[in-house]
Amino acid sequence: MTLTPRHVNLDTLPRQLFINGEWVDGLAGARLSVRDPYDDHEILTIAEAREADVDRAVAAARAAFPAWAAMNPSDRGRLLYKLVEKMEACFDELAELEAIDTGHPIRDTRFLDVPRSLLNFRYFAGLADKLDGRQVPVEPGFLNVVKRQPVGVVGQIVPWNFPLMFCSWKLGPALAAGNTVVMKPSEITPLSTLRLAQMMHEVGFPPGVVNIVPGYGHSAGQRLAEHPDVNKIAFTGSTATGRKIVEASSGNLKRVSLELGGKGPNIVFADAVLPAAVGGSAFAIFHNQGQACIAGSRLLLEESIADAFLEKFIALAESIRLGHPLDPDTEMGPLTSRLHQQRVLNYLDICRKEGNRILTGGSSPDDAALAQGCFIRPTVVEAQPGDTVFTQEVFGPFVSVTRFKDEAEAIALANTGDYGLGSGLWTTNLARAHRVADAMQAGMVWVNCYKRVHPGSPFGGVGQSGYGRDLGTECMNEYTEAKSLWINYDAQLPPFYKR
Ligand code: NAD
Repeated sequence: MTLTPRHVNLDTLPRQLFINGEWVDGLAGARLSVRDPYDDHEILTIAEAREADVDRAVAAARAAFPAWAAMNPSDRGRLLYKLVEKMEACFDELAELEAIDTGHPIRDTRFLDVPRSLLNFRYFAGLADKLDGRQVPVEPGFLNVVKRQPVGVVGQIVPWNFPLMFCSWKLGPALAAGNTVVMKPSEITPLSTLRLAQMMHEVGFPPGVVNIVPGYGHSAGQRLAEHPDVNKIAFTGSTATGRKIVEASSGNLKRVSLELGGKGPNIVFADAVLPAAVGGSAFAIFHNQGQACIAGSRLLLEESIADAFLEKFIALAESIRLGHPLDPDTEMGPLTSRLHQQRVLNYLDICRKEGNRILTGGSSPDDAALAQGCFIRPTVVEAQPGDTVFTQEVFGPFVSVTRFKDEAEAIALANTGDYGLGSGLWTTNLARAHRVADAMQAGMVWVNCYKRVHPGSPFGGVGQSGYGRDLGTECMNEYTEAKSLWINYDAQLPPFYKR
């Protein structure tokens, strides 16, 4: 059943690059095909940015930087608030646009993608005039103050799994702090980012403050990462690409923050409230078709409750309604691209080769109506340390299950592998909750919940999940430089050179 959006006007959607406040074609004249993952048809084509276009965008951001940085911070906040109002007025349109471009079910984009993006922009709008520095109590006669200054031109490179939300995570704090931005959205899902740029222009962001250059990673992304006139790269994406970005950034030693992959361990202890743990663990992995860096993709179950848990968990997984993203009853949409569906299916081939027992799912759905789409059934697979799918990120509706005997083994299993992003545990024992949370090698731990995110709480990882933080007041450190200012107002300097 194909549904058409009611609030999106494809004819008026921006289809060009947004550079220096203008809509322009790429200099090479190349186009990107934007596809609907429900049936893989082409929605439209847009201009593709290449290296020379990134150069133009960086030049525009550089030219816009002094005035933007010097603007009254309260006025920067006001522009962000105006953007929030504009987005609120276009709520239905944004929810539908994100659904057709990414495959997210409309119930998710209405409940999560759009409201969360609003929440984030609102938070950073409010933070714009609260970024105070500090005064250090140094020796008498001197004043030392630490000022926070914007870093300059920021390049932002983001993936396809939450395009609109990542705009709010990245643009919000960067702009509030007085930086100008060149953002490269994923080549797969650029539509909501371009629409957002149009709104920013309409509410009065000055030309060059935000520039949007959709293009491929190896060309536009690489150029942004290596660009000598970019002061910082904020990257979200895979660990492999993160490594390339660090290498590319070394020319001018620009600052880099990396939000990379994850393989979230989700521990269920025998004393957990079982229905809550079952429902929460299903949300942890199956929401957004499992395409979340913080997905609870590694379920660790205490032996004594494992069978009872799995019976309920598998029944829930099998009841999840797959369908058209615009159908309000759909609980799971297609994966965001054909290529990515293939990647996930390859992991299922690996499971079969390595002898992992597939407890449910394991393929695309048989349903003829979904056959053209990039769907994968919710999949639950038994795995042991050493199996490929125990440590590698599948990034789909795919969860591995491993049983453990005691708390020490649960912690050891949870900390196996190189990632350390999101993690969770379910228990009614408060002391255990703290003990295990402290022992988890992860940037975020959720107890009796999963994937809670708030603009005020820092988000990021350890190990191969990257470094630096999005969100929270912590992320403002990523977008500002600390400048230490010393003033002698009454001090007698010691006579260093007595003559
Ligand atoms: P990806 O690394 O392939 O691409 C991410 C972005 O980087 C895209 O815009 C892409 O065009 C660009 N890119 C690719 N090669 C590049 C290069 N050489 N130089 C510069 N830019 C380049 O990742 P993906 O497949 O789009 O997204 C999935 C990955 O993102 C998963 O690993 C997931 O865990 C991760 N992710 C992490 C977070 C987080 O906050 N930690 C959030 C969401 C997704």
